Formats: sequence, structure tokens, C-alpha cells
Amino acid sequence: MQFSRYNIFSKIRDSENYFIVNLLSGNADILDKADALKIEAIRNGESFQEDGFYNELIEKGYITEESREKKEYRKKYLDFIDSREKDEIQIFFVPNYTCNFACSYCYQDQYVNQPGELKTGVIDAFFSYLQEKFAGRKKYITIFGGEPLLNSPKQKQIISYIIDKATLAGLELCFVTNGYYLEEYMPVLLKGKIREIQVTLDGTEKVHDSRRFLKGGGKTFEKISKGIDLCLQNKINVNLRMVIDRDNIDNLPELADYAIKRGWTISDYFKTQIGRNYELHHCQSAPGRLFDRLSLYESIYELVKRHPHITKFYKPAYSISKYLWENGELPDPLFDSCPACKTEWAFDYTGNIYSCTATVGKKEESLGTFFPDIKLKEEIIEQWESRDVTSIPGCSDCSVQLACGGGCGSLAKNNTGSICSADCRPVKELMELGFNAWFENYNS
Ligand code: SF4
Ligand code: SF4
Repeated sequence: MQFSRYNIFSKIRDSENYFIVNLLSGNADILDKADALKIEAIRNGESFQEDGFYNELIEKGYITEESREKKEYRKKYLDFIDSREKDEIQIFFVPNYTCNFACSYCYQDQYVNQPGELKTGVIDAFFSYLQEKFAGRKKYITIFGGEPLLNSPKQKQIISYIIDKATLAGLELCFVTNGYYLEEYMPVLLKGKIREIQVTLDGTEKVHDSRRFLKGGGKTFEKISKGIDLCLQNKINVNLRMVIDRDNIDNLPELADYAIKRGWTISDYFKTQIGRNYELHHCQSAPGRLFDRLSLYESIYELVKRHPHITKFYKPAYSISKYLWENGELPDPLFDSCPACKTEWAFDYTGNIYSCTATVGKKEESLGTFFPDIKLKEEIIEQWESRDVTSIPGCSDCSVQLACGGGCGSLAKNNTGSICSADCRPVKELMELGFNAWFENYNS
């Protein structure tokens, strides 16, 4: 018998209590200090009493036999692969890389704009490719950019054509947009089956307008806000994203307050996400202003303590903590957190195919073409497809692997040169925050 290699055990932040989580056995507990000391002793291989507490640890899989655990791991891994094969595929399509905004932090600003424009032949080839390659799979399309909703008659025609093709194919559409021309696009959008519109607001008016302005200057906040109102009135789901760094994080309470007062947070069609401004593609001009994953969530944790109304607007997940609180059980083990080339693909108007939104538009990352001819770089696709915690060196000995899933393949490649390498997530530290937030604070 031994202490399970998948136990995640630590002290809850700002509390006397501890937590233990095991995603393989599916158990989680909050412990007082006395029980935590007993577990600590067992983990350190000290002698222990085989009492009721010890038996409970065995029952819950915190203490286990290695061979039994290996068998369980294999079984759960096969279940994971099976269920992923039935998962819905998210297909991104980029109709253009141009944009009417000049955001202060845009990672696409260095992309050399590719020549040419989207022709209907490329759209037809894209839909044929989907029907053929992903036949029988559940799927939906996300239109991404650049900015897809530009206000020219030509662009409206293109978006309208894409919507008609998607309707014909029985596919739902999402749009990732800066939200500036939502009002102008409403009649076009209302023709299709729109699953969600993702719009970015980086704060209240002054803060947002200082970061996300029109090319050549010009405020955008008020027009985007009206666009969000319109979507909600028309029962179109809005996913409001706030991209955060150290320059705007203190504005989160005010943006939450604004969304509450504008009636957004009580709409069934409204949800939010926080995007971390980070160095995905190239060094930002002021890297000192960026958060790493943990420091971002530590700052949000402190902010929510002082401004609890934030949770009406945004509920931080802190790894699996929120899920556990909301569902009363753990999620299934996560053997892979990177959907690239498994349940996510990206295509662009030049006819190229990419793994996902992190690589789309980077010519050297192209995995082949769907137009004018179908050509695939099978060897690189195979590397993306096989990436998970069982294939990444380093992950197999990691106790948080089934909550982490190996991180992002693109970030890993940027850091190490190899797709199949680790992009570590501070899972234990996030849970330390999350157990306090969800189990001892937000709901007390
Ligand atoms: S490479 Fe990163 S951004 Fe792309 S699908 Fe994987 S996790 Fe997501
Ligand atoms: S990426 Fe890092 S933290 Fe995540 S499972 Fe692998 S070794 Fe563990």
C-alpha cells in the first residue's frame, strides 16, 4: 500500500484546513489539521495506525496498491479517448486578418497581412472539407479574425454567404468579434443559427477606450455596449471577455458593477470570461505589466474578497474547485487539456489549415491546405494528435497531471521547440485559492 501518486494534497489559503483531491479515484475531502498531519506522516512513509481513518483513505483511493492504480489509470485513459472521439469539434475559420482596431496589446499586429481576399470558392472548399473529413462528427464553426464583422458591403456579403452555407450544412456558428459593428450586422446574424458571440471589453469606458481603440484613434466602448444590449434583446448568447493585465485589473470591480447595472448579468444569454494578456506570439512592449497564470488568479482572489459583487459578473474556476463546488463531484480525469487537431482545427481564407487559434495565420505552422488542393503534413498532425500526459515526458510523474492535462501545445512548443513537451499549470496553488474561495468564503 502506498500514498497515491495522483493525490493533490495541500493547505487551503488563509485557512487552518487542508484539502486532498484524487482525480483518478474521484474523491475530494477537506481535512482539519489533525487529520492532515496523519496524511502528511503517511506521505512521508512514517509508521501509522491502521484505524478507521486509515481504512477510509484506502476506500477513497488516497492510499492504494500500485498495480491496482495502474489498471485504473489505463481504464480511465481509454474511457477518456473514447469519449473524446464523440466530442463536438470546434472549427475556426478566419475570413481575413485585417482589423479596424489597433489594440495596444494585439498579438496579431506583427502578422504580415497575407495578400488576396476571401473568394466564395474558398468558402465552398472549406465546407466540402468539413463534410468529408469530419463526416459523422458533431461540429460547429467559430468565425475568427482579424475582425470578421467589418462594415463593408463586400464583407457583409461574405459573412452572409458563410451563414447561408452553415445553415445548409445544419451547423451552428460562433463569432469572435471586437463588437464594434454588431448593430450593423444584426440583420445578417439573425439569419443564422448563432450559438454565441464573443465580445471583448477591457474595463469601463475610460480604461477600455485607452486599450481598445479604432485604427487612427476613436472610442469604441459605447458602441460595443449597445451592440451587447442588442444581442441580448435578440436572444443571442454573449460571452463577454475581459483581457487582463496589471494595467486594467483594478477596473474589474467597476466593470462588474457596470454589467450588473446595465442588466447584463441577469440575462440568461450573458456569460463572461477573463483572458490573460500574455506572450503567446512575441514579446509585448511591456512584459512587466503581464500576469503569469497564478499571479492573475491571486490578484482576482484578493479583489473578490474586497469586492464580492464581482462574482455576480465572473466566477473564477481556480482549476477544478468551482466545478467541485457546483457539481458536488469531481470532473473526469483530464489526460489532455489541448484540443488542437483532436477537437479543434483552424482554417483561413488563404486555404491553409492550422492546429488551433494559437497557430492560425503563422505560415510556418501550417499543417497543410484545403484549397486549391487538399494536402496534409501528416507527420506534424500526428505529433499534435498524440500529445497528452501519457506522451509528454515529465507529465507521467506529476501528481497534478489529471487536473492539468499537460497545458497548451503551442506554448510548450514556443518554450521548448517541441509540441510534445510540458506547459505546466499551477494546479495545486490554484486549488489552494479555490478551496478557500468556493468552500470557505463565497458561500459562507
Ligand atoms: S495549442 Fe494551446 S491554444 Fe491551441 S488548442 Fe492547444 S491549448 Fe489551445
Ligand atoms: S504540464 Fe507540468 S504540471 Fe501539467 S501535468 Fe505535465 S508536468 Fe504536470
